[in-house]
Amino acid sequence: MAKRNGLIEPRLFSYRGVKAFFSTSSFDHKPDNIAKTVNISKKNVYLPLQKHTSYVHILDKDMTPVIADAVVTGIKGILIGVQVADCVPILLYDRQRNVIGAVHAGWKGTAAGILKKTISVMQREFNSSTWDILMAAGPSIRQCCYNVGADVGDAVDSATGKGDYYVKRDSLRFIDLSSANVKQALSAGIPGENVWQSEECTFCDPDRFHSYRYAKDKAGRQGGFIMLE
Ligand SMILES: [Zn+2]
Repeated sequence: MAKRNGLIEPRLFSYRGVKAFFSTSSFDHKPDNIAKTVNISKKNVYLPLQKHTSYVHILDKDMTPVIADAVVTGIKGILIGVQVADCVPILLYDRQRNVIGAVHAGWKGTAAGILKKTISVMQREFNSSTWDILMAAGPSIRQCCYNVGADVGDAVDSATGKGDYYVKRDSLRFIDLSSANVKQALSAGIPGENVWQSEECTFCDPDRFHSYRYAKDKAGRQGGFIMLE
């Protein structure tokens, strides 16, 4: 992959046969440029219409964008991705069955278990084994900055179970959605050594990342992208 400024490549995914990267705000997110990063034409970039759903789209030959917050495909040469500003972009790669996934996990998606649903789709439709699935969770808002009310906290908690991905301070809860999703992946059977997690917080570093909580409606989007070669 051409080295470009503004990209983060999860080292765990440096396999032959797959290209995976997360972007930062300095990356040019125009479809032409996203496509150029992996030397394909922009008609082979597939981004779903994200609506904080828990719908997982299985991409076949039809490239029409549909409403979904996760995409799974086994087709080579198609870059799939999700766009985020604070929410967690998650990439999945089954290195045995050659299947990839991209997941947008905000609090709603995390509470709805969208990552677990995506893993189930890989198992059911592509015969994936969780043992073979690699996972990368990209930059997102972290526990330091993501305070939520009890309703959001309880919703994420009931989908994830108890854990140190959240702390209570006074009446507020500080949640780490990235770690909540890692916990969900581990409980679905993905081995810990198959998981890569960015340590960065999008709110702490507004020069480098788009953050919805920081910039509100002015926030742009970065993303997570993956392609089978
Ligand atoms: Zn932070």
